[in-house]
Amino acid sequence: MKGPPLTSQPAADPLLSHDIHTHTEFAPCAEGVTLEGVARRAREAGIRLLCITEHSRHLYAPEGGPPEGYRAAFIIPGFLDRQRSAGQWRVPQFIRTASAYRSENVWVGMEVDVDFDGELIIHDDVFEQLDIVVAAVHLLPERMAKEPRAEALTDEYIRVTCKALEKDVDVLAHPTRILKHTYVPVTERAIVPVLDAAAANGVALEINRHSLDPDDYFIRGALERGIKLAIGSDAHKLEEMADFGFARKVLEGAGVNPAEAGKHLFTPKRRRTLAHPQSVS
Ligand SMILES: [Zn+2]
Ligand SMILES: [Zn+2]
Repeated sequence: MKGPPLTSQPAADPLLSHDIHTHTEFAPCAEGVTLEGVARRAREAGIRLLCITEHSRHLYAPEGGPPEGYRAAFIIPGFLDRQRSAGQWRVPQFIRTASAYRSENVWVGMEVDVDFDGELIIHDDVFEQLDIVVAAVHLLPERMAKEPRAEALTDEYIRVTCKALEKDVDVLAHPTRILKHTYVPVTERAIVPVLDAAAANGVALEINRHSLDPDDYFIRGALERGIKLAIGSDAHKLEEMADFGFARKVLEGAGVNPAEAGKHLFTPKRRRTLAHPQSVS
């Protein structure tokens, strides 16, 4: 394992117990974030569990992206097989590089993109290598329209997100971001089916620092259903790690004293043992 280990002492501040969502030099959208930097920042901040979760669609592309752009993973049939068979992917490289940091409290996972059918953008044998799976809805068909229609996008959001929540995933990242990014109101109609599906399938919902998502009324709905909350920096910049201002605000808005947030926070269960050798080719 690279570098000294993270502290294993219990955290006085429950928000320091884990960061389930961070990026690396493999993300084209990250600014100055590296595996080395993320591990160092987690150590310095006293984070107890660090999950390295690169975007799957970025890893199914060479550095600089596929010729069709990163949306290709959503819109080109057979894209994953094509990239893999042509060797135009970086999954093996990511797993190899990230695994050098792997330890009892540094886990290697992915932020797995969800396609327009609610399926996970990843091969099964790659999925089998991960310590944690964070699912994310980053794109929907209506989002690509010149003038996205709110009702149509809401329908797609419900359909795709609920389907993804039925998959074997641990956390749903930034649960309402796709609505906000499309300037679609986060309505009761949109969120109730998603909250119900998360509760039914035991999937944790993320409070995401990078996207400042979701809002407190969404978290209130999660708490009413007994859904666990996961703290994710989604660090695209190192300073986004261990910055809990947004999480505190949302928790307080939802009626939770952040100092007592521990009982609502998700305790991830590692999918693979540390001894599980991670590789894929
Ligand atoms: Zn994301
Ligand atoms: Zn992310």
